[in-house]
Amino acid sequence: MAAEAPTKDKIPLIVLIGGPGSGKGTLATSIVKDFGVVHISTGDMFRYHIKNETPIGKKAKSFIEAGKLAPDELVIDMLKERLQQPDCQKGALLDGFPRTLAQAKALESSVNDKYNLVVLYLDVSDATIMQRLAGRRYCPSCNAVYNVTFAPSKIPNICDVCGATLIVRNDDREETVRDRLSVFHQQNAPLIPYYEEKGVLTSINGEKGAAAVAEEALRILHEKLGK
Ligand code: AMP
Repeated sequence: MAAEAPTKDKIPLIVLIGGPGSGKGTLATSIVKDFGVVHISTGDMFRYHIKNETPIGKKAKSFIEAGKLAPDELVIDMLKERLQQPDCQKGALLDGFPRTLAQAKALESSVNDKYNLVVLYLDVSDATIMQRLAGRRYCPSCNAVYNVTFAPSKIPNICDVCGATLIVRNDDREETVRDRLSVFHQQNAPLIPYYEEKGVLTSINGEKGAAAVAEEALRILHEKLGK
């Protein structure tokens, strides 16, 4: 039997699980910068394919526009092909994949001993997400962003910078945030125990500030990836 490659020689494959408003995007940026891994967002890949009217884009368009998940086979094939590309040989950070158990199993069967799989779950309560997203206010005139709890404007609903009346974006409406949260929980509920059982998942308390979350995540990754 061939000796297993030492952890530090394996290709890092980091799966980031986190709901809307969990701070996943900010954390992804820190991880990519620190580890030099490629950030792969299956949502961004689909948007690229749809914009460029590729065969994948044509197949995925109707699902994505209806707010449904694209078929497992399509997203799995797309991701496997992406992982073969030269820029992924130093490692990748997966964002938005896997979203179903079938995808998690497919990922596992295609990542062999060459890879070191680490799953980070950014755990944030629904109440905090609601405060973060539904409390957001935008200035339609100069694009300044506020939050009624964490970063309020000096005069309620008026932009400090240009004096325009602030608005709530459609995506941040309370009902919409609630829907986005329920989709996230439905999709991720089976993935969390699945990865916990495999011993590859670490939960991070995402309630702390972005800097503290990044510090903890990077410490865990350095430890697990032996870098
Ligand atoms: P996102 O930007 O990650 O929210 O993805 C945008 C859309 O792309 C989703 O609403 C799905 O329709 C589709 N999508 C992205 N990733 C996946 C995935 N892993 N499985 C199925 N559909 C996906």
